[in-house]
Amino acid sequence: MRELCEVALPVPLRTTFTYAAPAAASNGTPASGTRVVVPFRNRAMVGLVLGRAPQQAPAGGIREISDVLDAQPALTPALVALGRWVAGYYLAPVGEVFRSMLPPVVEVRSVQELTRTAAGAALLAELRALEERTGDERAEAAILQAFSGEAAPLASARLRRLAGGEPAIARLLRRGALEAHSIVRSRRRRAPRVEFEPEAPEEWSLDAPRHALNPQQCGALDAVRADLASGEFHVNLLHGVTGSGKTEIYLGAIEAALAAGRAALVLVPEIALTLAMSRLLEARLGAAAGVTVLHSALPEESRSAAWWAVRRGAARVVVGTRSAVFAPLERLGLVVVDEEHEASYKQEETPKYNGRDAALVRAKLESAVAILGSATPALESYQNARRGKYRLLELPARVEERPMARVELVDLRTEFEQTHRARALSERLRAAIALRLAAGTQALILINRRGYSWFLLCRSCGAAVECRNCSISLTYHKGRARLVCHYCGYSRPVPAACPKCSGKYVQFVGEGAEQVEEQLRAEFPKARIARLDRDSVRTQEAYRKLLRAFAVGELDLLVGTQMLAKGHDFHRVTLVGVVSADLALRLPDFRAGERTFQLLTQVAGRAGRGELPGEVLIQTHYPEHYAIQCGARQDYGAFFEREVQFRRAMHYPPFSALANVIVRDANLERAGRWARQLAAILGPAEERGLKVLGPAAAPLARLRGDHRFQFLLKSPRRSLLTATLSQALEACAQKEIPDGAVLVDVDPIGLM
Ligand code: ADP
Ligand code: ZN
Repeated sequence: MRELCEVALPVPLRTTFTYAAPAAASNGTPASGTRVVVPFRNRAMVGLVLGRAPQQAPAGGIREISDVLDAQPALTPALVALGRWVAGYYLAPVGEVFRSMLPPVVEVRSVQELTRTAAGAALLAELRALEERTGDERAEAAILQAFSGEAAPLASARLRRLAGGEPAIARLLRRGALEAHSIVRSRRRRAPRVEFEPEAPEEWSLDAPRHALNPQQCGALDAVRADLASGEFHVNLLHGVTGSGKTEIYLGAIEAALAAGRAALVLVPEIALTLAMSRLLEARLGAAAGVTVLHSALPEESRSAAWWAVRRGAARVVVGTRSAVFAPLERLGLVVVDEEHEASYKQEETPKYNGRDAALVRAKLESAVAILGSATPALESYQNARRGKYRLLELPARVEERPMARVELVDLRTEFEQTHRARALSERLRAAIALRLAAGTQALILINRRGYSWFLLCRSCGAAVECRNCSISLTYHKGRARLVCHYCGYSRPVPAACPKCSGKYVQFVGEGAEQVEEQLRAEFPKARIARLDRDSVRTQEAYRKLLRAFAVGELDLLVGTQMLAKGHDFHRVTLVGVVSADLALRLPDFRAGERTFQLLTQVAGRAGRGELPGEVLIQTHYPEHYAIQCGARQDYGAFFEREVQFRRAMHYPPFSALANVIVRDANLERAGRWARQLAAILGPAEERGLKVLGPAAAPLARLRGDHRFQFLLKSPRRSLLTATLSQALEACAQKEIPDGAVLVDVDPIGLM
């Protein structure tokens, strides 16, 4: 009997599919982890074999795998297991999980073919019989005529090129005169394989001096080496203050893993940081390690080439962003997650996994050692270290006894009382900048808000101009002379009057990065100033150029959003100014305090990293808030104690397993009905200890044209949460609530 395979297909369903092994089974049944082409509905799709499927009594109705793409399985057994974990834990469609784990499919391309139906033949006869034909009819006849018979398909691309072809085909498909199928064509013979070529080296940040480790670094590295020698799964939380030399621990651990014949994976939170890390690793480890960068912004062909270089074993060290957690390394020995607290490890699209947590599961599956590094560990991670689940390694001081930066809070309330002017840059901050400019050192100015003004307010009716698709006010971008939605991208010209009440007095409120830059230029006309945010720096290339210019001293002041706060090691920065510490604090989110603390600590860590001491000025209206106080003192321990009390009292992580569930639809009434149905489905789980908050209007009650209702699920046990959600999604399907209407976010990072 023909063997049956369980195949995952990239469709938004939480099920897998059964296909028969190909008849021409010269290589036998494809192994788990092999990519195959299968017929699905009336198209061909690339899927992944997960394993054998149980033989069903009459194997009737089961279709056959039409092509096997890999001689060697694309995914290792550990990666197949990891994919199944991601799908189960995050309640994500299994096929979409595997699609995001696989390299872009460049070996095959999908082609649409058309066939003419019997109805099409009849229509052609009718059209031919007409004495006079309209333009539309002539185009339709030309297309129908191109077919030699019912069975012979034609490539749709060719027909679409005929005059009026595109709309005529659409009409004929609608009328059933044509049928469309997609097929998969091999590209292997035509396209030469692109060999993976690392980028040319850069002229800066390439020195990788091997430092003599200080005693704290030695202790931490020895502990990790012992773990590696054991060959067993271990997790280390490396809590080291900014500038404590955590990177040296990563490097030493990677060397030890390679020496033991095992591979290493390094995750960083931003694409922009992959480059510096990979340079450092190359300089330290040499070319033999084959340090390879993987992230989603690489062009498809080179990403695929890099991925396969890793799969073939040519690369033993991979540096990448969250998706690199799926890098197909074999005999993985070490996983490093740098800045493990970063929100960017969480993928906000389906599958909504956290790269850090997936990294730990992967390490476990591969009996590897994990290092989570941060100056401000996530509350969850630190709590795990406290409970003994992770080993805590601490680097409490900066290298070479360099002092921590001196942090001062600038109370904007007092500033206003004294000056009676609300300006983005206080006198204190401006004076400090002037001092740096005079001394020829550099300053970073953090303003955590893009655009020129936060919003446009009507003084007659009090309304801010809102997005057409989202319940959020539009941000004014002066460079583009438009109001822009930061959620959906909608933009419109600046109205002369209020769109709601036609009031003539509309005014811009709040300063964004664009405006702060403008103010700095006005104040310091001689200074060399640049801005770093997603509007000013749109490409990796531009980003690299800007950082390079700053690193080599071609710039004096760098203004920017939190892109500034991450990872960079600039040695001549002696001042960091934070325009407002309060923005993150005001968000309706249980992580607001944690985010604020992390941002302040990280940004303070950018000052005084070289020989020159650093000063940090933080402007705020709430200098007494504990997140700001602890951030200013860079006192993680004190912050943790305060924050953990709040989390425990409110049943937030790490004291519960949390999921955010959104029910959405373009139609308000329908969204509301589905939300009520889901509430009824979730209700019974409350007897087992699950807390269900909602349905309530989501903080973003409208987003991209959808109306949204929100549930927050807090569970004392992970298993209860997963089981409840899984059953609820089944039940929704039964009630014919469409799959896309219910969005589940397990372990959400933000609740907006
Ligand atoms: P962190 O990631 O902990 O903020 P880094 O790893 O970037 O810190 O190290 C900060 C700086 O200290 C880097 O320039 C690094 O080269 C240097 N460094 C690391 N270890 C030592 C050491 N033992 N002695 C002197 N300098 C060191
Ligand atoms: Zn919008």
